[in-house]
Amino acid sequence: MRTVAIVLAGGSGSRMKSSVKKQYMLIGDKPVLYYSLRVFQDSSVIDEIILVCGREEVENCRAEIVEKYDFTKVSRIIPGGKERYHSVYEGLKAAVDCDYVMIHDGARPFVDEQMLERIWDALPSARACTVGMPVKDTIKRSDPEGFVEETLPREKLWLIQTPQAFEYRLIRKLHEDAAGGACLGQQITDDAMLVECLGKIRVKLIEGSYQNIKITTPDDLLLAQIILGQKKGQKKG
Ligand code: C5P
Repeated sequence: MRTVAIVLAGGSGSRMKSSVKKQYMLIGDKPVLYYSLRVFQDSSVIDEIILVCGREEVENCRAEIVEKYDFTKVSRIIPGGKERYHSVYEGLKAAVDCDYVMIHDGARPFVDEQMLERIWDALPSARACTVGMPVKDTIKRSDPEGFVEETLPREKLWLIQTPQAFEYRLIRKLHEDAAGGACLGQQITDDAMLVECLGKIRVKLIEGSYQNIKITTPDDLLLAQIILGQKKGQKKG
C-alpha cells in the first residue's frame, strides 16, 4: 500500500491579521508547518510527501523548510490554487502512482503518529476516512435574523479535523467531478464532503485529538505554545 501525504500550506491566513502567513509563524523556535511535516517524515506508514504552498512561496518553502530541516520524503513542492479544494486538486494531480492519500492541513501542527496509525488500520476496509473528535459544547443553528432556530443533538456531532485519507482513485475522480462543476453552490471546506456529496460511500470517523487544533486566529497560536510546552514536558518526563 503506497501512501502519499498531501500537506496543504497554500492559504492566505487572512483571519490571522498578520503579514506573516500562519503556516510560517513560529511555535517555539520552529514554523507551524515544520511540526506536521516532521510527523509525516518520521511516520512508518507514509512513503512520500507532496507539499502545496502559495504561488510565490515555492522556493522559500524549499530552502527554509524542506532543505533546512531535511524533509527527505518531500518529493514535490507545488503551487496551490485559490480555494483549499483547488490546492488539494493540484496535490492529487502531482501524486501519481499511489494507492492511498492522506490530505492534511499544514496549519494543524499537532497531528501525531498514533493518529496516522489509526487511519492506516482503518484502510483499506474504509475507502474514505477522517479524524475528528466528539463536540463538547452544545451547538445551535441560527436563523438569518440571529435567533436560535434549533439545538442539534450533541451525541451525534463531531468536530472534523485532518488528516483525511482516501483511496487515491476515488478522491481524484471526485475532485475531477468537482472541477467539472459537480457540487456547484456548496462551499467545499474539506475532502470528506466530496465523498458525502458525490461518492455514495460512507466516510469512516476515526479518533483524532483535542490537541489537533488548526491555527487560524492569534488565540490559536497562544494555545499552540501551551500544547507544545506540554508535549515537550511529556517527552522529558
Ligand atoms: O483556510 P483554512 O483554514 O480552511 O485552510 C486549511 C488549510 O488549507 C491550511 O493549511 C491552508 O494553508 C490550506 N489552504 C491551501 N490553499 C488554499 C486555502 C487553504 O493550501 N487556497
